[in-house]
Amino acid sequence: MAIQVEDLCYTYGEGTALERQALKHVSFEIQDGEFVGLIGHTGSGKSTLIQHLNGLIKPTSGDIKYQGVSIYSQGYKLKDLRSKVGLVFQYPEYQLFEADIFTDVCFGPKNLGLPQEEVEKRARHALKLVGMDEKFYKQSPFELSGGQKRRVAIAGVLAMRPEMMILDEPTAGLDPQGRDEILGQIERLNREHGLTILVVSHSMEDMARYVDRIMVMNDGVKMFDDTPKEVFRHYKELEAIGLAAPQITYVVQGLRERGIPIDDTITTVEEAREAILALYNKRREKQ
Ligand code: ADP
Ligand code: MG
Repeated sequence: MAIQVEDLCYTYGEGTALERQALKHVSFEIQDGEFVGLIGHTGSGKSTLIQHLNGLIKPTSGDIKYQGVSIYSQGYKLKDLRSKVGLVFQYPEYQLFEADIFTDVCFGPKNLGLPQEEVEKRARHALKLVGMDEKFYKQSPFELSGGQKRRVAIAGVLAMRPEMMILDEPTAGLDPQGRDEILGQIERLNREHGLTILVVSHSMEDMARYVDRIMVMNDGVKMFDDTPKEVFRHYKELEAIGLAAPQITYVVQGLRERGIPIDDTITTVEEAREAILALYNKRREKQ
């Protein structure tokens, strides 16, 4: 088991006029090697929650265990936790600050106190994993496109060789191709390198295609926690909290309402295409 979150509560500005209960009794577990999505509208508590997971915020109450040990127990080294649980922030600008990309990616492993040779080896490997080759090494992070900045920010975390990576809205502001590239790379890190992944996203389409499990946050409460198919069954409740299920869900429901017997657990365009083709072929055979 990678992470256990137990009855987590967090209040901003406790006792002040700006008091805001951002997390309300949130509990969940993430297993080693899982690929989990976290979704919810703006202000639902996603960023607050994930900042707890690598010790950046301390809860008002509740506990977090990493590999069975409470990260708040006496003597626990949060610095070690942060090298095992890497956090890629919502705005890569906050994470990129060195003069060139290579130096930027070296920052984390250097900070771990590793020898220079090992630092550079890790940086090269991490940049390769996110598809940034040597021609980028000496460029300034500020010259990059949005998608490239995100990839460098991800490489900076990967160079620490984490066991788990948490990404806060890595696809925000990217075009569909950029979104697919980033998510495809994250998926490979999970499937081929065994990294445990928690990815925050606004997009149900992204979630349906990539993750094993979705947690839905609403107003500081964990509302759903299940496979994408099970979560999207609640598309009406999702709509009520400002989240639409993937568009294909509506196409499928519309067909069913007209009496076409199509599987109602379809969540991706590819699955829908196959199901519609199968129905079409069946009908042609009958004729
Ligand atoms: P999300 O990432 O889902 O958009 P956040 O975790 O950023 O949500 O915010 C959850 C709630 O906490 C919101 O109501 C937000 O306004 C409030 N909040 C977030 N950060 C702060 C802060 N630094 N001070 C006070 N309130 C905050
Ligand atoms: Mg956020």
